[in-house]
Amino acid sequence: MRVVLASNNEGKTREVAAELQGLGIELLPQSHFGVEPADETGLTFVENAILKARHACRHTGLPSIADDSGIEVDALNGAPGIYSARYAGPDADDAANNARLLQALAETSDAERSARYQCVMVYLRHAEDPTPIICQASWEGYVLREPRGSGGFGYDPLFFLPDLGCTAAELDLAAKNRVSHRGQALRKLIDALRGNIG
Ligand code: IMP
Repeated sequence: MRVVLASNNEGKTREVAAELQGLGIELLPQSHFGVEPADETGLTFVENAILKARHACRHTGLPSIADDSGIEVDALNGAPGIYSARYAGPDADDAANNARLLQALAETSDAERSARYQCVMVYLRHAEDPTPIICQASWEGYVLREPRGSGGFGYDPLFFLPDLGCTAAELDLAAKNRVSHRGQALRKLIDALRGNIG
């Protein structure tokens, strides 16, 4: 069965594709169909995930999976949150976003640098699907003062996991997927999908 992944983010695509292997789903990134990114005009992860999934369904005629995710930093009242990908500006890259986060937390003590990744994962059977499958998960950590590690993507080099004693960028893909917000949300989605498709 062919399903579109409503994302142009290579890091996410790698993680989602790895988790869906063996489920009988051929996951195709929306770029495969020349689909441009959707406008993320929602004010919540849920709204944005549905907007992205609907946009991909509409342009491909296929079912779609979309993830909307981001990092919430307690000392910044939850920012950058849904704006994580564009924290340093509309076309910001990971390095610029990380630099802005470090700057925003320059005066914040080590004890107050708690944060979490959030992920909402949705499955839409078609563009007018009135009952999308919606799954959510989070992943707790701390924001370091300087980057560590070269794996993952986005804020991973700054995202320290006290239980594991490393950053998310120091985990390989399989290890990150086992514990991450995206891995957890995706496994919930896969459980919900079993019996729903085929
Ligand atoms: P979205 O593509 O609009 O959902 O934006 C997600 C953004 O949140 C990414 O561009 C990253 O900045 C951040 N983000 C989400 N998940 C992760 C992750 O697993 N590692 C690092 N950054 C992440």
